[in-house]
Amino acid sequence: MFQKILIANRGEIALRVIRACREMGIQSVAVHSTADADAMHVRMADEAICIGPPPGTESYLNMAAIIAACEVTGAQAIHPGYGFLSENANFVQIVEDHGLTFIGPTAEHIRVMGDKITAKDTMKALGVPCVPGSDGGVADLDAALKIGEEFGYPVIIKATAGGGGKGMKVANNATEMKSAFQTARAEGKANFGNDEVYIEKYLTTPRHIEIQVFGDGKGNAVHLGERDCSLQRRHQKVFEEAPGPCISAEERAQIGKVCADAVAKINYIGAGTIEFLYENGEFYFIEMNTRLQVEHPVTEAIFGVDLVREQIRVAEGLPMSFTQEDLEINGHAIEVRINAERLPKFSPCPGRISHYHAPGGLGVRMDSALYDGYSIPPYYDSLIGKLIVHGRDRTEALARLNRALGELIVDGIDTTVPLFHALLGEDDIHSGNYNIHWLERWLETNL
Ligand code: ADP
Repeated sequence: MFQKILIANRGEIALRVIRACREMGIQSVAVHSTADADAMHVRMADEAICIGPPPGTESYLNMAAIIAACEVTGAQAIHPGYGFLSENANFVQIVEDHGLTFIGPTAEHIRVMGDKITAKDTMKALGVPCVPGSDGGVADLDAALKIGEEFGYPVIIKATAGGGGKGMKVANNATEMKSAFQTARAEGKANFGNDEVYIEKYLTTPRHIEIQVFGDGKGNAVHLGERDCSLQRRHQKVFEEAPGPCISAEERAQIGKVCADAVAKINYIGAGTIEFLYENGEFYFIEMNTRLQVEHPVTEAIFGVDLVREQIRVAEGLPMSFTQEDLEINGHAIEVRINAERLPKFSPCPGRISHYHAPGGLGVRMDSALYDGYSIPPYYDSLIGKLIVHGRDRTEALARLNRALGELIVDGIDTTVPLFHALLGEDDIHSGNYNIHWLERWLETNL
């Protein structure tokens, strides 16, 4: 059993992991950059160790410093959170080579799913339905034009190494293909050091539905239903919910089983998310994330389980604490991502928090590393908090979200809170009538 876990992350997700450790009687070690010396995760952990200067590349991505921090503190395992090193197969290998445990999947699973072409091939072979498109990589513009012709425009050109919405370009016709193909390749090269691209049919009215899966690494796996993350800006999620407002119990059981069987077959260990686009009653796989997702709390809320605790358990070689039959949906949960950003342009807005008050009461969870007087450093992601509400049904969850947003105070900086107040005034949000393009269109006329 682990006595001490090091958390290779910062912000709300570092607190999330520290909380699970504390409930399990495990000591926690925070690592931090010099810019984060006053951060909440440093204060809350049992021990803290500075691993470098402010830029992420020199601190939270500094593998040698993180391994050294484990050696100095005697931590036996590393929880990577999300982002940073969470999906870095080389890091996992290095962790294991040092006799430490990485709390997450194997290097091999991360490598396979981190390359979108390989991931799609693997999922297809495992019986998971995929978006129609090119068979693997597309070498040049001529080949790309042929695919466009074959599948019909619009198509989307995607960098195989892409992530975070980067390296994706839509082409509506053959003329647009030229620049879209080149831009996707260039973005892949610039952001991920890999210019290989593939092409898919561009679905025009899908919802983003993702299935939470969990494996024990020994051939057993379960699914924890879906999350609907269709409200997106620039392919980035801003509002997530579970269960999906348009997914039936039969559809959930069917696609859930396909996903659980697929990850069981590859002996997947830990938490994973299989992302789909959902259109006209059909699911189309787009990618798998081999880590805890930002939006995992909505799943925790409706199933009443602690996913971080489960990650730690299976990393220790213990079985999962639930079976598929144990997992029953209770009510409805919604998460909104609160970013330090100034509307309407969503420009980053770091600065000092003069006053912070978190909402509370029945069915409200605020995951945030903010506190009165905290200065948000300008070096990292703009996510400063996640407000998660849980109700007996979607209507109650929305009313609770409205109430909780009203209680939240973040003074001193601009945040995305006004966006959610405005969205709650929209009929489509209440009826659940939206797809992945709804928010972009709404923003054009409403902000
Ligand atoms: P990333 O790894 O950058 O997050 P994804 O493959 O997960 O990229 O896609 C992110 C988002 O991009 C999806 O949620 C969806 O909004 C859009 N998208 C991706 N593929 C398609 C497609 N074939 N058709 C329409 N939209 C797509």
